[in-house]
Amino acid sequence: MIYLDNASTTKIRSEVFETMKPWLTEKYGNPSSVHSLGEEAAEAVERSREIIAKKINAKASEIIFTSCATESNNIVINGANGAGRKLFISPIEHASVNNPAKRLKARFLKADTEGFVDTEIEKNSFLSVIYANNEIGTIQDVEKISDICSDKNVWFHSDAAQANGKVMIRAGLFDFLSLSAHKIHGPKGIGALYVKEGIKLEPLMMGGGQQKGLRPGTENVASIVGFAKAFELMDEEYCEKVSELRDRLIKKVLEIPGAALTGPVDKKKRLCNIASFAFDVDGEKLVKLLDSRGICASTGSACSEGNVEVSHVLKAIGLREKLARGSLRLSPGIFNTKQEIDEAVEAIHEAVESLRIV
Ligand code: PLP
Repeated sequence: MIYLDNASTTKIRSEVFETMKPWLTEKYGNPSSVHSLGEEAAEAVERSREIIAKKINAKASEIIFTSCATESNNIVINGANGAGRKLFISPIEHASVNNPAKRLKARFLKADTEGFVDTEIEKNSFLSVIYANNEIGTIQDVEKISDICSDKNVWFHSDAAQANGKVMIRAGLFDFLSLSAHKIHGPKGIGALYVKEGIKLEPLMMGGGQQKGLRPGTENVASIVGFAKAFELMDEEYCEKVSELRDRLIKKVLEIPGAALTGPVDKKKRLCNIASFAFDVDGEKLVKLLDSRGICASTGSACSEGNVEVSHVLKAIGLREKLARGSLRLSPGIFNTKQEIDEAVEAIHEAVESLRIV
């Protein structure tokens, strides 16, 4: 199998798994318990909070653990709405921002053809812009957006589920950040939320007093420890290696007749592990055909009840519908080799040609 779907999820690193194990077996205390087994678990949670905070240049007290980035996004969107802020949302958000924002009648902004978002926002409002897009890899100019938000007293949230660990994050630029572990070789079902000191949000769930009441519920100690370990292991070398594979993919796939690149042309503005394309063939069929050849990839189009739904991200960047139906996302990772990339490109070429004939 050639796994080129690391933007969907990643294989857990063995070091991460080993770090988690004791917290699933003999060290099973509840961090809220006052006995030593509980205290030991609470200390592990706090150490992990510090590691994650340091990685994004935040204070440990500004990090809340959640069950996933989806939950972090929902806490922020609903919380900002509850605080009376008008919601402004980029048009290329992940469903976990897009859907709660739609329900709360948010105002959607525009994006250019590479996915860079415009920031026509009102004073004293709330803005959510995805740090690095999961379909086309666009890394936003968050410093510029942060300046605009500061000038207008706007709360700035960024969904950094794809960016965390791959981009140097300065939490001070934001009011809220959503993070996820399973995109960086950590466990699934654990996320975090950065909330700038001094900002108070209403919780989504009511319960005990854990994590200042903003996210009640017994902490998932093993996964929290695994998240911190996975984050710790992300370094510059990761992006150096993976971006080489990404660039090899981009160069070779674009040699296939009819292939178009989606997202930024400037590689510095594209996430290190996302190569995204569009073809004039059905994306879902393409992904299934590749799967039959042992290659795991993704498409932005999804078939529901016989209709192919075109990704809202590809629509927002103005991609023609025919091409948007044929999107292909390849996201390499550290366990891939150059040879795998070459084999995958060959298979993609053949698959695209065969789908054109049908
Ligand atoms: N935000 C982005 C940009 C993502 O790519 C994803 C995962 O696909 C999520 C949020 C959701 O993350 P989680 O699976 O941790 O809920």
